[in-house]
Amino acid sequence: MPLQEIAQKVEKAEATAGRPKGATQLIAVSKVQPDERVEAVLEQGHRVFGENRVQEAQGRWPQFLERFDGIELHLIGPLQSNKVRAAIELFDAIHTVDSEKLARRIAMIGADLGKMPDVFIQVNTGDEPQKAGVALDDVDGLVALCRELNLPLKGLMCIPPADEEPSLHFALLAKIAKRNGLEGLSMGMSSDFERAIAQGATHVRVGSAIFGDRAYA
Ligand SMILES: *Cc1c(COP(=O)(O)O)cnc(C)c1O
Repeated sequence: MPLQEIAQKVEKAEATAGRPKGATQLIAVSKVQPDERVEAVLEQGHRVFGENRVQEAQGRWPQFLERFDGIELHLIGPLQSNKVRAAIELFDAIHTVDSEKLARRIAMIGADLGKMPDVFIQVNTGDEPQKAGVALDDVDGLVALCRELNLPLKGLMCIPPADEEPSLHFALLAKIAKRNGLEGLSMGMSSDFERAIAQGATHVRVGSAIFGDRAYA
């Protein structure tokens, strides 16, 4: 059963890194997967899921939230201003805060709704032009702003460039987090989550290794 296999690999990577069991939370990334596969993972007792589009998540999760207790949803994809309200209503954590504007909007609408999601700042560690994430030079400033706004800032998130050794990016993200007194590190996907755990990941985002390949329409 893939979920159990992955959970075991997470545990083994924690042990290898000398980190306590449970130091890393496994986020099952269900984007684009058929509901049956998601339901099967829920039936196995898993409760922490990631989606990367607000609209897709709105279509899928209300029925599961009614049927299963304790579900925790993480938004791991880009968030547009006009989707902030819907995102806060549905998600427990947003991993993709990458601008002052977005941070301010979450703070404002969260206050309005009386519900504040946990927040991670996405960092463009590879300095890639088209990639989401705050530039390396601007991370400390955005951390300070999130704190000023009293956002529940948990840590940093990155998606390493496809053609580079991810460990270097994970180590860099860990260094920036440490410098800013942040504990949370959202890093590592199906192909590299064990390496991310070795570098201190507190949240790994694993999709296809749990659910199988995504069948894009
Ligand atoms: C899709 C996605 C993942 C999961 O990718 P897999 O390779 O299927 O594990 C993780 N993080 C983000 C931001 C994603 O968009």
